Amino acid sequence: MSQGATSAAVVSVGNELLFGETLDTNTAWLGRKLATLGIPVVRGYTVGDVAEDIGWAVRDAIQVADLVLVTGGLGPTPDDLTKFAVANVLGRDLVVDDRVKESLQERFREQGMDGVPPTAYDQAYVLSGSEPLHNAEGTAPGIFLRSDEAIIVLLPGVPRELKDIVNGSLLPHLERLQRDAPDRVWHHVIHTTGIAESRLTALLEERLADVSDEERLGVGLAYLPDVRGVDLRFTAFGPSRDEAFARMAPLVQSIEDVVKPYRFESDSGDLAEAVSQILRERGMTIATAESCTGGLIAKQVTGVEGASDVFAGGIVAYSNEAKIALLGVSILDLAEHGAVSETVANQLALGVADLMNSDIGIGVTGVAGPGGGTEEKPVGTVWIATSLGGEVEARICRYSGGREAVRVKAGQAALAAVYRRLVDSTA
Ligand code: AMP
Ligand code: MG
Repeated sequence: MSQGATSAAVVSVGNELLFGETLDTNTAWLGRKLATLGIPVVRGYTVGDVAEDIGWAVRDAIQVADLVLVTGGLGPTPDDLTKFAVANVLGRDLVVDDRVKESLQERFREQGMDGVPPTAYDQAYVLSGSEPLHNAEGTAPGIFLRSDEAIIVLLPGVPRELKDIVNGSLLPHLERLQRDAPDRVWHHVIHTTGIAESRLTALLEERLADVSDEERLGVGLAYLPDVRGVDLRFTAFGPSRDEAFARMAPLVQSIEDVVKPYRFESDSGDLAEAVSQILRERGMTIATAESCTGGLIAKQVTGVEGASDVFAGGIVAYSNEAKIALLGVSILDLAEHGAVSETVANQLALGVADLMNSDIGIGVTGVAGPGGGTEEKPVGTVWIATSLGGEVEARICRYSGGREAVRVKAGQAALAAVYRRLVDSTA
């Protein structure tokens, strides 16, 4: 029987989720995973360890989605009620699965025990007509079953076990469900940084105001902001990638010139990766001199695989003394302009490029707060300088959002400045 899936729902089970003791990372992880497989999650439920509530959520989920994933409540303890609740909703029995029973026996033998403890033995029970999904990380198997209304998958709550099953024994099922679906969702993502969501939205909506519904060809556009930037996600449903991308193309093109100054190319959405890729292609290296970002930029660049090819080194020059002694910042300029100034940022960028013998230098100096602000240089003021082949450019930025946000935004802006200069230097 071929039964495809175009949408999914996730039911998370556990009192600890409702009480706020455990963060529901499973729903987030499943949401991302299923989106990449083209089966978007359209609804999520969180319920406690109460059979009635689990039953209610599953019954509702079946109405709205082709694929229903239930996480949690699969273990051997008395509060684990998922199997009973779902069996009840679907009118199925719980039966012993011999393969699961054998693998349980083997597992406990390996641990030096004679038999399977009675509580663990409960895990050999599965819903009639279902297929157990092997769990290499724990004892509770996942369960896969097709009913007339939906495909239902039961997964353990422990994130490590859930991921093991989804990436292992469940994956072929998911891929087949997606293949058998008449249409699937396709995304085209544009990453931007250095422009606030409100401004970007205003610019784009103005541009798209004249595009009629017919001209949109069913293409959706979502704005996905975080502290580092805004992703624009175009969405089209269709049978094939080519057809869906062809429909998205006119809309994407119509906004291209608006987003160009803020856009960067990266599969993962990581700007450090985008910068590293260009540096590698051109055989160039980068070095960082960071004050208020405290090594954040160095951390991001070295987080990219193969960083040793492109990252020469970094210095966290926090005190004035460190700026002077390590990077040759002028004591007179420090006295005259202060540490948070264009001159000092420039000297940091040039100094570190010189010291590390790199093609590019980054210098960042600012007031992250909450203290240390003045009227002239309020909290959130950051000077960012980049040197490329000895030519230095600096700009002042003013950020809001607290100490951590200021640091993250400044680090991102420094990488964005390098990215733009590299891209422009070929044009
Ligand atoms: P269970 O399968 O219900 O026995 O869950 C076992 C453990 O997995 C719980 O104690 C939580 O620590 C964790 N857990 C359960 N559900 C989730 C969830 N939705 N997200 C993250 N962790 C979870
Ligand atoms: Mg539980």
